[in-house]
Amino acid sequence: MPLTPEQEQEIAAERAADRPTRRATVPALEEILYAAIPVLDHGFVRVIDYMGDDGAIVQAARVSYGRGTRRVSEDRGLINYLMRHRHTTPFEMCEIKYHVKLPIFVARQWIRHRTANVNEYSARYSILDNEFYIPAPGHLAAQAATNRQGRGEVIEGEAARRVLDLLREDAERAYAGYAELLNEDDAGAPRDPSWPGLARELARMNLSLNFYTQWYWKTDLHNLLHFLSLRADPHAQYEIRAYAEAMLDTLRRWVPMAHEAFLEYRMNAVTLSASAIKVVCRLLAGEPVDQASSGLSPREWRELMASLGRT
Ligand SMILES: Cc1cc2nc3c(=O)[nH]c(=O)nc-3n(C[C@H](O)[C@H](O)[C@H](O)COP(=O)(O)OP(=O)(O)OC[C@H]3O[C@@H](n4cnc5c(N)ncnc54)[C@H](O)[C@@H]3O)c2cc1C
Repeated sequence: MPLTPEQEQEIAAERAADRPTRRATVPALEEILYAAIPVLDHGFVRVIDYMGDDGAIVQAARVSYGRGTRRVSEDRGLINYLMRHRHTTPFEMCEIKYHVKLPIFVARQWIRHRTANVNEYSARYSILDNEFYIPAPGHLAAQAATNRQGRGEVIEGEAARRVLDLLREDAERAYAGYAELLNEDDAGAPRDPSWPGLARELARMNLSLNFYTQWYWKTDLHNLLHFLSLRADPHAQYEIRAYAEAMLDTLRRWVPMAHEAFLEYRMNAVTLSASAIKVVCRLLAGEPVDQASSGLSPREWRELMASLGRT
């Protein structure tokens, strides 16, 4: 996550400033406000701003005038109830804004989440940095044999070196071509005065998907939880999951009660189909049940058994 000295100074200046406010603030989130949390080899997530806290969820749910004199245990109980029963609008009363630096192929998955406000770094206007993602050795894997959308065995040794060399060489070649097409030095003057160079909006098109882009991404708590439930899930690709996991920690700092309820009723919970509930009831009654007699497909059966901790 190489930040330039100027970027580090700007972050430090923001972090040193105190702004008095009557609005609810959350000390644990203030602690990390503006600070870049490293993700992957050159990426980061920073919390730039937020609105509301656990109390704001409770206030909205009760449509109350003030913070009230309710006890913490009552607030926790209410937040758990709202989460359990998918009464989602009180969670929409809280907002959070992130600055994210991420590889383009991760951004393509991320942008599918439409219920957020996004402003991306413009590669029509500015020149992209020579920064591209190369997976760490443990994350270099072959295609999964059983799952068409996933990874299998980790690639090691000579094969891993070959893969890494190819990834690095391709990205370096692509960036060298980009720089040549732009034909600009650091001061913006032509490197080769004998030709005009290509517009930035066109020169970028040969860069590979592992180059880094950046955006500001703002969403409300309800949609953030939806994003995290999909992208912090083990089925999500590792690279986007790495961002979601860093954001889960910001969630824990920001709204600890909602975070706890989210883990309990969403992230670590399972939804059972009507047929699956019948299977569970039969198992509880001591009846022998196998996949053939369960009414479930082999895949659903495997998923149910995994959820119940049975092989
Ligand atoms: C493991 C995984 C694999 C995936 N694989 C693929 C893939 O192979 N190909 C692919 O194209 N995508 C894939 N996706 C992307 C996925 O299909 C969704 O586009 C993405 O997860 C965003 O989810 P969302 O639409 O619920 O989120 P958001 O866009 O944030 O929407 C949140 C919710 O708002 C509502 N909503 C938003 N917009 C509309 C609308 N226009 N109409 C109706 N309701 C709306 C829906 O209820 C939606 O769930 C994958 C996602 C995951 C997590």
